[in-house]
Parts: sequence; C-alpha cells; structure tokens
Amino acid sequence: MSTIDEIKARIDIVDLASEAGVKLRRSGRTQTGFCPFHSNTRTPAFVIWPETGTWRCFGECNDGGDIFKFVMKKEGIDFKEALQRLAERAGVQLEEFHTEKPEQKEANQRLRNLLEDAVTFYRHQLLNTPAGKTALDYLLEKRHLTLQTIENFGLGYAPHSWDATLNHFTSKGFSAQDLLDVGLVTERQSDSQSTNSQFTDSRTYDKFRHRVMIPIRDENGKMTGFGGRILDPNDIPKFMNSPQTVLFDKGRLLYGLDRARKPIRAADQAVIVEGYLDVIAVHQAGYENVVSPMGTALTEDQMRLLKKFTRKIVLALDPDTAGQKAVLRGLDAARASMDREEELRFDARGLLRHEARLQADLRVATMPDELDPDEIVARDPQEWARLIEAAKPIVTHVLETLVSDRDVNDAKVKSEIAAQILPLIEDLPNPVERDSYRQMLARRLKVDERSLSGTKAPVSPVRRQRPKAEAAREQKLIQAAPPASRFKIVEISCLALLLRRPELLPHLDRRLQESGLAALSALDFEYTDHQLILRLIQQSLEQDEAEQAHYVESHLDESLRETFTSLRAQPAPKGVDDKLLDELTRQVLQVRQQSLSESVNQLRFMIEDAQQTGEVRATNYQQLMLQYGRMLNHLDDARRKLIEYRRK
Ligand SMILES: [Zn+2]
Repeated sequence: MSTIDEIKARIDIVDLASEAGVKLRRSGRTQTGFCPFHSNTRTPAFVIWPETGTWRCFGECNDGGDIFKFVMKKEGIDFKEALQRLAERAGVQLEEFHTEKPEQKEANQRLRNLLEDAVTFYRHQLLNTPAGKTALDYLLEKRHLTLQTIENFGLGYAPHSWDATLNHFTSKGFSAQDLLDVGLVTERQSDSQSTNSQFTDSRTYDKFRHRVMIPIRDENGKMTGFGGRILDPNDIPKFMNSPQTVLFDKGRLLYGLDRARKPIRAADQAVIVEGYLDVIAVHQAGYENVVSPMGTALTEDQMRLLKKFTRKIVLALDPDTAGQKAVLRGLDAARASMDREEELRFDARGLLRHEARLQADLRVATMPDELDPDEIVARDPQEWARLIEAAKPIVTHVLETLVSDRDVNDAKVKSEIAAQILPLIEDLPNPVERDSYRQMLARRLKVDERSLSGTKAPVSPVRRQRPKAEAAREQKLIQAAPPASRFKIVEISCLALLLRRPELLPHLDRRLQESGLAALSALDFEYTDHQLILRLIQQSLEQDEAEQAHYVESHLDESLRETFTSLRAQPAPKGVDDKLLDELTRQVLQVRQQSLSESVNQLRFMIEDAQQTGEVRATNYQQLMLQYGRMLNHLDDARRKLIEYRRK
C-alpha cells in the first residue's frame, strides 16, 4: 500500500468534513450536508462518498475530490502541505525521497567509486600486508569466518596510521574534500588536539585506524560507508560508523540487506540482529535472511525498508543491556511520553505501535546462555533455526521476561507486573488480541481475568484514551485496505500510459474535441496526486527546453515521488500508436462516464429529497441532471464511434 493510500485508509473524509463544521446526514451510500466552501443554507449540495473517501459539491463550487483536495481547498494550501498535515494526523511517516538531480548523481557516483576503491584498498591491507595479519587472524580464528565469507562481504583492514588512507587516495588524485565527503578522513578539531599527533601541518587525518573494515552497502548493493571494529581492546569506541554523509544515512540503511533481500523474500521473514559481524556469521551458517541496524536503534524507516520484502520480522536480541533489558527499561520511558519517536530503540510500546502502523508481524527471539548470535551458530547452526522458530510476539516476550525469576504467588509482584503489562495490552489496536493477552496475563499471574480488566493500570496523564468505537474503527481500517476505488484503476492506467507516451496527449485531445467533448483535464481525475501529475505532463508538452519525460521527472515535487514511481512501475503498454490512442480514449471516456453516472445517481436522490421538502433548489438539480445526462449521451456516442472506428 502506498503512503497516500495508507493515509486515505486511516483518515475518514466524514471526520474531516464534520470537523470543518459540516453537519452530515446519511442517505444511502452517501452523506450530504451544506458545502463548507460556498455560502449556502437552503439545500445541502455537498456530498460525501465514505467508501471511496471522495466528496463533491453540486452547488456553486461544482468541484470535488479526495481528502487531500478537501484539505487543500479548506486551508488554502498546496498538495505537499496537505500531505504533510494528513500524514501527521494519520500517524503515517512520510518517506523523504532522496532524488538525485543529474549533476548530483554524477557527484554521488564519483563518491561511490571512491568508496569502492577504499574497499579494494582495505582488503589489500587485510590480505597482503604484515600489518593486516592481526586483523585477518582475528576474523579467521576469533570470529570463525572463512576466507570465502571475508571475500563475500568485502572485509578489510584500516592500517594503524594517521594518514595511510589519506596519502593513498590523494596520490590517486582524490582531494581531501572528497575523502571528507565520504567520511574516510576527519578534520582536526583544534590545534591543541594535534599536539599528540605526529604531524602538525595537515588539517585532516584518517578516521579509521587499526580497525576491521566492514563495507556498508544500500539494499541495491551501492556503497554508502563503512563500519570499523576495533582490534585493540583498549581502543574506543568498539564500533565506529562512517559519519553522516550524502551517501551514508544510518537511519535508512540496514546492514546486509543487499545480500539478504532475496533470501528474506524467499523465506518471507527477516531476522534482525544487533551487529555486523553477527550478520556475517549467521549468513555463513546458511541463514541469509539476516540484517542489522546501524547501532542499537531500529528506525521506522528501516522497518519500512524491510517491509518491501516481508511483513514478518523477528528481532534476535542479544541478552545484554542493548537487548531484552532495554525492552523493559523502554516500558517506563515510553509511558512517560507519547511523543512520536522516530527511533524504536527496542522499546516494547514503540515496537507495538509501529507493528500496528506498518501492519507488520514483529516477534522477539531471545538468545540463551548469554550468547550472541554468532556464538549460537558456532555452537550449533540448527539451534539458530529453532530459536527463530520459537520467537514470540512482543507482549508475550515482555510478560515472560517480567515473570521469570519472580514469585507470582506474591500479591505485590502480581499487581506490579500487571501494572507494567496492562498499558501495553490496552494500547493494542486489535480487540481480539487484547482479550487473548489479558487471558494470558491472568493465567500467568494466576488471577481472575475480571480482576485485571477491573484494575486500573497506572496510566500516565498524557496517555490517550481510546474510546471503543474509535478502536473498533481503527481495527477495521487496519485489517482491510481501502477498497480500490473503481475510479482509481482506470486513472492509473490512463496516467501510466501518458507518462510513457506524453506525445499521445495532443492526439487524444483532438480526438475528444472532434467528438464534441472537452479535452482531458486534471479535473477528470478524482485523485489529487493524479491531477497534479497530469498537469505536469501537460506542462511538459508546452515547453521545448527538455525532453518531456525528463521535464516531468525534474519538475516533480517530492510529495508526488511515490505516486510517480508506482505509475512508472506499471507494465509498459504494448501496441502501435493507433491502438494505444484508442485504448487511451476508451479509458478517458470510462473515467468520465463513471464519474457522471455517479453524479446522476446522487442528483436523483437529492432531487427526491428536495421535492419532499418543497425546495426550490430541486429545479437547479434537475437542470444539472439534464446537463449531466446530455454529457453522458455524448460520451456514449463517442464510445460507439470509437468502437466502429476500431472495426474498420
Ligand atoms: Zn460548494
């Protein structure tokens, strides 16, 4: 589901209109009220179709659209801003798309090449130099990696030097700035810090020194940066990542995803571990659906990235503080604030919230005996499979961790544990899940379930109350994606075709006009993002500075990127131009016909209504209906002509 669809699924047009002061009355499949956009008090002209999330004013405005259009019109804002506001309201995080402009693309490619060269440089240091021997021994003997694995993951060694990397690359023609841009060197902070270093005249020095170097690639295998692990136990920090650069954005990367994406899809499951070397060891053991976040934080962006490949995600947590204890510590921290946090940091409430929001299936696997994943697979590779298989839903995991080593016969312990777990359970969007967790909690604490639902768990004052109706509606929305509006499918294929073949548009318009119909207009489309993209295509035909497709892409607002990408992903239309034009005409006629018939049906209702109350307005509606009826006839004629034309 696209972000825009997700927002539409979570926001009810009825709520938006009601909040805008429209008093709505249900009539059949629609709800009607006074239009909030023009002054009217006599007859309701404003209609909402809750099923499709669309609206229309049959009065003065003669306008309509989706929730975005509603907010744009109401607040006088553009699509981008409407998208941001509604995303926030829906609790949907908008992806920021990092589009590369052509000149940026070239610059980034140059930086990526530099990083690829660095992979080769560090690998040479690891495999062919006496200094690299320590690192190689560490990987082979302490980490039990094979040479093949070291090769597969491109591991290397950064020399024990302040300027080996710097000198190597400057001698190859790269500037210190290039090296800074990819994070291979660091700028000296101040003169006082340099007194200990062996040189005083240089401004920059190697960032990674005497470390095992782990190349970090994006999901497409493109180089972004490095992780460096210490070899000398006295060095700090134990792990060091590239700094944030144009290419390296740690909140949006998952280590190992380039190699894991296919296995994740094949297994329909992704396992998240907490370290790069764990990823490598578990891959070597034959489990290749494993990735790691950068550091201990797991961001919603990273989960979104994974969700492209599977919705089943297992967190394999180290038994140390970064792992399960943090889950528990997170309980209190998360309760203290209901702020929307970007980073999950393995806290149970955050994870549950994102699980629901992303419609993911999140489970937790605990490593036994204080062992890390790489130690588990070294001990017994089969054990890994069993542990992942036994992963538990987050609430179950938290409950079991809390209950272990506690005396649940002690009344005080019972209420303490209940107080920690209940808020988590109450926050679940699914009522069935809530019930079954309450039962489970009652069983584990050996108490009557009714006493649990009766106990008021200590609730933080900022905690949002969730009325039953709201919860039920949310649940319904979460389970069922919105019904693809009948408009949408035709709009999509129509636009997808025009995006590939914009030059067909003038021919289409001529054909429509020859049949006495209006040229294609953005208002033919129900969806605001579709309208905006069509306008761009139209503009691309009115200019001659750039090739049309290029013009559209370079003028595309970021907020439309996702729609654009999914349109471009539609299968390429086949056939000669005449056939394509026929198809396009047919689709446009269909879009119009659907929308007009819908309006005519609605007007019929409204006329009946108005007549019953003796409203004068009824005549206006009758005129409108006649007009629409004539347009429908026109459309029919055009369609027939088109079919005859095809037969010839
Ligand atoms: Zn109106």
